[in-house]
Amino acid sequence: MASQSKTKPAKEVKAAKAVGAPRKFKMYINGEFVEGHRRAFFPVYDPSTEQVIAEVPDADEQDVNRAVAAARAAFDSGPWPQTTAQDRGRILFRLAERVRKEAASLANLECRNSGKPITEAEYDIADVATCFEYYGGMATKVLGQVNPVPDNALSLSLREPIGVAAQIIPWNFPLLMAAWKLAPAIAAGCTCVLKPAEQTPLTVLEFASYLTDAGLPPGVVNIVTGFGETVGAPLVRHPDVDKVAFTGSGEVGKAIVKAAADTLKRVTLELGGKSPNIFFADADFEAAIDGALFGVFVNQGEVCSAGSRILVEKKIYPKFVEAMSAKAKTIRLGPPLERETKMGPLVSKDQFDRVRAYQEIGKKEAKTAAGGGRLASQSKGYYVEPTIFYDVDNSARIAREEIFGPVATVIPFDSEANAIKIANDTQFGLAAAVWSRDIFKAFRVVKALRAGIVWVNHMQPTYVEAPWGGYKQSGFGRELGPNGIDEYLETKQVHINLNEQPIGWY
Ligand code: ADP
Ligand code: MG
Repeated sequence: MASQSKTKPAKEVKAAKAVGAPRKFKMYINGEFVEGHRRAFFPVYDPSTEQVIAEVPDADEQDVNRAVAAARAAFDSGPWPQTTAQDRGRILFRLAERVRKEAASLANLECRNSGKPITEAEYDIADVATCFEYYGGMATKVLGQVNPVPDNALSLSLREPIGVAAQIIPWNFPLLMAAWKLAPAIAAGCTCVLKPAEQTPLTVLEFASYLTDAGLPPGVVNIVTGFGETVGAPLVRHPDVDKVAFTGSGEVGKAIVKAAADTLKRVTLELGGKSPNIFFADADFEAAIDGALFGVFVNQGEVCSAGSRILVEKKIYPKFVEAMSAKAKTIRLGPPLERETKMGPLVSKDQFDRVRAYQEIGKKEAKTAAGGGRLASQSKGYYVEPTIFYDVDNSARIAREEIFGPVATVIPFDSEANAIKIANDTQFGLAAAVWSRDIFKAFRVVKALRAGIVWVNHMQPTYVEAPWGGYKQSGFGRELGPNGIDEYLETKQVHINLNEQPIGWY
């Protein structure tokens, strides 16, 4: 996918400067804020105004090499390998405290850079702090094991950090995705090179300025800004990187697995979805309508777990489509900094074009109940209407391909078995939800769904305490919860002989 900086000519950067100079950021390598060796920068936009708000270093492979060397050195020598789990926990608590202190300005920056409503940006920043606290506590709860071997010996399983982690994140929850990656890695004792998405690097760079104060030694966390091919790809193939953690598109996820194979890096992937949100006729109707709307339109639908396939039992189907569409038309779209706003613009011109194209495909493939275009009342900004297609066949492109925007497809079903079949008929398996007052039915469906996260009678609440990740082509590995730190640990088996003589033949 073409990046914004490639589609916008450099001239526009200068034009925007006349309006109000964009803030120039540096990236963070080996404990210092630096420019790339080429001293090149790329523009970063406010998607609600289409104005350039910042310029960020346009790094390349040489800068990646410098960051990986710093992370490698910090892992292999220096103070980091000597820190205790308590030390690492305290660093994470200090980071959480700092994030809470700076929450208002971080939320403002997140809102302006990503286009998400300010109230949702505030939730995200609070979650960032919670994530650092959670893994701060977990640092001292990583346990090994004594294995019951049948000899006079002590067999131990020790947990040790994997090493240097390359962490590549998307633009939909910019600082939160960084927290999900950095917090467990720091708790485990790894070192990191993190690449934010080119569209939304600002809050992560702001956050980098807290690291030294929190007591993190140089090189433990490095932030390199740039594009997928010029920064992401060199990171993934770098021989000194031990692990890659990626959140993003399936297409890039597959490329990462192939590239990581050469050096057999550990890889964890959190990719897309086309998650079913299943409504039985016995569900609470009002709650169901709200759950369907929130499930698919929260964060402008730019959510990997968006409930974009809304499966509705035929008995309530016409009433459901009508009520959902009527309420969708009342959702307040507008400037993301206004507190009443429920949906802001999409993150970028690329994403806007992509979602608009799917709206046109949808109009040909199904019937339109709400939306279908850009928001007419805004002349600037990448606003699109919350869009609902109904009578959608599960084989339609709008039901199979991840759109990553506010486009819902409503699909009728006539039985529990039929609902399960449609729900599982997808290459993805990230999330699903089921709505019913019948706990036995709901749980039968939960067990039959091939998805890593299943909600019952709500959709989207996400907790740092509980594992997050996908089945099938939605990726592998788990973030958050106790599972999240496992992905940054190796297991070392140690066997201590308690006999005078070693075991064996002589
Ligand atoms: P989208 O197309 O929605 O932006 P991507 O999967 O392309 O989603 O992007 C997610 C992250 O992956 C971004 O940080 C992006 O720069 C990065 N990325 C893109 N291409 C590559 C690649 N070939 N190797 C590594 N990282 C990449
Ligand atoms: Mg892409």
